[in-house]
Amino acid sequence: MTTDILTPEASYDTPALHAEGLYIGGHWQAGTGIPVVNPSTGETLAEIADASVEDALRAVDAADEAATEWRTTPARQRAEILRRWFQLMTEHAEELARLISLENGKALSDARGEVSYAAEFFRWYAEEAVRIAGEFRHSPSGANRILVDHEPIGIALLITPWNFPAAMATRKIGPALAAGCTVILKPAAETPLTAFALARLGAEAGVPPGVVNVLSTSRPADITNAILTDPRVRKLSFTGSTNVGRQLLAEAAKSVLSCSMELGGNAPFIVFDDADLDSALEGAMIAKMRNAGEACTAANRFYVQSGIHDQFVAGLAQRMSALKIGPGTEAGVQVGPMISSAAIEKIDRLVQGAVAQGARVHTGGRPLPDVGYFYQPTVMDNVPMDAEIAATEIFGPVACIYRFESEQDAITAANNTEYGLAAYIYSQDLTRAMRVGKQLESGMIAINRGLMSDPAAPFGGVKQSGIGREGGVTGILEFVEPKYYALSI
Ligand code: NAD
Repeated sequence: MTTDILTPEASYDTPALHAEGLYIGGHWQAGTGIPVVNPSTGETLAEIADASVEDALRAVDAADEAATEWRTTPARQRAEILRRWFQLMTEHAEELARLISLENGKALSDARGEVSYAAEFFRWYAEEAVRIAGEFRHSPSGANRILVDHEPIGIALLITPWNFPAAMATRKIGPALAAGCTVILKPAAETPLTAFALARLGAEAGVPPGVVNVLSTSRPADITNAILTDPRVRKLSFTGSTNVGRQLLAEAAKSVLSCSMELGGNAPFIVFDDADLDSALEGAMIAKMRNAGEACTAANRFYVQSGIHDQFVAGLAQRMSALKIGPGTEAGVQVGPMISSAAIEKIDRLVQGAVAQGARVHTGGRPLPDVGYFYQPTVMDNVPMDAEIAATEIFGPVACIYRFESEQDAITAANNTEYGLAAYIYSQDLTRAMRVGKQLESGMIAINRGLMSDPAAPFGGVKQSGIGREGGVTGILEFVEPKYYALSI
């Protein structure tokens, strides 16, 4: 059986678009108020419901009503629902990819990659649901025994960004449901349609009413604050910018909520003289241009050693200038639009600021004046280390290259940021790569590769890039609470 929302007849390509509602307690509540814009054209794709504070509290009611049954549902049964959800996403991969591409703008090839990555979180956590471990120990004093049970933490508010509308949702829903928690998902207002489509597939997979609720809103602070201060809610899992993350941490502190925070990045990409040039360029293109640069793991600062610098700059400029730019859904397009006109303005301000400080543009350097929100793939070198662009998450198709001489210089420059999410190292000397890796203040390090995201790996950052990890065997621990029993046996 297929869901109507995902059949080609009901495609969001057509102007007869679905005004989607809020998904609360297994019911769809129609509404309007939030236009969803196709960033490739600037046209409105759909108008969706705008949740009120009352809606938010009804979602907490629904998550609460479903909680007892869900936490006591056998892990095997929860696992099988997640596995079916994975299967349905896989069956509908192409429609989901189109939907993501339409509302986010990313190239279809990127959207297909995202759907596959996103679905894998359901498969992975279907496998993990049945392996939540406990603990049994003897107290060193001999006085008692220590039994530790891992219980579902409780109702979780999941807040996701627009740049990976499917994967950021499944990376949270998967472990939450596997652990036995019920959730309220608040997707970004720019890309809610993917979240609605996922919810429909979830219902078809057998997720009981109230276990997953979805709220779209144009007033995120009002809605999320109401949820966070409800004493029935025990968890906040947020992915988004560091700035909003700080505000949410302050809000969550009022109820002393458990928080998992996946925040912004400013990834260094370090290329040593002894790197394989072609491989480094290939990795650089992936690390920079996946999602047209709109990724938290995107290489933001390229540090290239003197001996290989000029060849690297020329090679990257040549590759970047050859990319096909256009609407995400168009065949062969490799670089889609940015999410909004505000994003274009920010990127251009950073680029022009660097140029004013002496940066040299080798290709690109300007927005495209056509319809939609496009920016030319850009390569700059001679960027001053103190330029605003070096300290700011660019979130666009702009590669800034900085020359360095010694290993220590590269490490010092790479660590000179409040962020610590991802870093890349290219060197054929693995001992050196590991030595440098140990000194980088980063939660994730890719060695001689441009992609690190993997559902089986712990994803997350240090410093102001976040708290906690998603994915892997540790991801589920964010949604359980250890309960200790002292036993006199
Ligand atoms: P954002 O912080 O503006 O928004 C993220 C989410 O928070 C959205 O759902 C938004 O509606 C909501 N939000 C915004 N203001 C809020 C408020 N005051 N109270 C409650 N909720 C609020 O981020 P964005 O622009 O959607 O996404 C881009 C950012 O996300 C980048 O900084 C990127 O690095 C980061 N990101 C991080 C990861 C990671 O895993 N570390 C992954 C993807 C994106």
